[in-house]
Amino acid sequence: MARSNPEDLEQFMTELKQRNPHEAEFHQAVYEVAANVCDYISDRDVYHEMQILRRIAEPDRIIIFRVCWEDDSGAIRVNRGYRVQNNNSIGPYKGGLRFHPSVNLSVMKFLAFEQTFKNSLTGLPMGGAKGGSDFDVKGKSDNEVMRFCQSFMVELHRHLGADVDVPAGDIGVGAREIGYLFGQYKRLTNKFSGVLTGKGMEYGGSPIRTEATGYGTVYMMEDMLSRVGDHIEGKTCLVSGAGNVAQYATEKINHLGGRVVTMSDSSGFVYDKDGIDADKLAYIVDLKTNRRGSIDEYAEEYGAEYHAGGQPWDLPCDLAFPCATQNEISRDQARALIRNGCIGVSEGANMPTDQEGITDFVDAKVLFAPSKAANAGGVAISGLEMSQNSARITWKEEQLQELLREIMQGIHDKCVEYGEVSGSRYVDYVKGANIAGFTKVADAMVAYGVV
Ligand code: NDP
Repeated sequence: MARSNPEDLEQFMTELKQRNPHEAEFHQAVYEVAANVCDYISDRDVYHEMQILRRIAEPDRIIIFRVCWEDDSGAIRVNRGYRVQNNNSIGPYKGGLRFHPSVNLSVMKFLAFEQTFKNSLTGLPMGGAKGGSDFDVKGKSDNEVMRFCQSFMVELHRHLGADVDVPAGDIGVGAREIGYLFGQYKRLTNKFSGVLTGKGMEYGGSPIRTEATGYGTVYMMEDMLSRVGDHIEGKTCLVSGAGNVAQYATEKINHLGGRVVTMSDSSGFVYDKDGIDADKLAYIVDLKTNRRGSIDEYAEEYGAEYHAGGQPWDLPCDLAFPCATQNEISRDQARALIRNGCIGVSEGANMPTDQEGITDFVDAKVLFAPSKAANAGGVAISGLEMSQNSARITWKEEQLQELLREIMQGIHDKCVEYGEVSGSRYVDYVKGANIAGFTKVADAMVAYGVV
């Protein structure tokens, strides 16, 4: 058979942008993967012949739907719902739901694409998907959130199933929303099946699902440091976000003897030089999860600095854990971190560093764990929640804690295997994660032929 042309990155990206105009986040996510994968597959003909990269970057299907609901004053409101089922080559579609005003098709497609590689890295049988809505949970009553979730599920339930597609939470979708969504799914289908993860422990949830993403992000950092003979103990850490991932990343950093000096939300960030210890973190958990307040209240309570509208990345630190949202670290901020002594970055949020920032971190040989590796702990425990639901049992917490630790170590080691820079001790974890995530999905697609 004639040898096919190696994949040309620029041509591939030009075509992708023409086919998917005005989707900046999606272009960014695909470029980050393609920049490594095009090179890797240059002498692996089968991936060209089967057009694997093009096929992974074209979602299996996208569902977009209207969500009508009634607010507390009786007014009719309209939002848009999405589910992007990107690829189910290695297992049922799996990926969270995000409720936030910034949700649009580009954001959904970037997240579903990323999820495909992340899920592959966990070693568990899960395909990649993502969904959500431009619905803003902020300022809504519990009843309004419930009515929205019920209406959202009226359409979404047709596309779900324990062996088909299993959503979970993400920004704006926590325990409350998962409860409403699962309750409506059960009502509509008359089935009690493991069709959502992140469920409450009373109705099929798994121990440590809530903690898993944040813990996993810190384990990834611990593994990167340990490989070079270092550790988290005594390190000054910047954390962004104050939601699920940020809270448990902070908790784990504290367990390991690090000192977290910042947390943030969409209003700004707090800088507490003394460190956000367990008691102060409990205040933040109550503030953000129960009272749904703003982080400036923390500054008032503890006399810490509050910076409205800002990001913490200009502060001196040893380690950074971006755990809020995409593109929160630009090139300038990456350079400030490097200048100020940061030696490691572990991405709890999805794609929090832009492409230029990533290039700078890698060039400066910062230990940089990209989100698809660093925040895979959450979906890994979700995968194990699916296994527990299928078997109709609940495993012990200690067993899951151990499995999470092992899975994160396995992801770290796969990144090293594919990302070690020859002639150097440095590991390019971005390259390692991209290639390790790609190969498993690609090989399954090759096995299926043209489908
Ligand atoms: P939460 O909704 O629990 O928390 C999000 C936090 O980020 C909040 O503090 C929020 O502030 C802040 N935030 C959200 N949007 C912005 C913005 N545009 N600018 C500044 N701050 C913002 O979400 P999670 O903690 O679950 O998710 C955080 C990140 O981690 C996301 O990128 C998500 O995709 C990723 N992730 C989450 C997983 C999980 O298991 N939950 C799994 C893997 C990845 P405010 O309170 O003011 O809204």
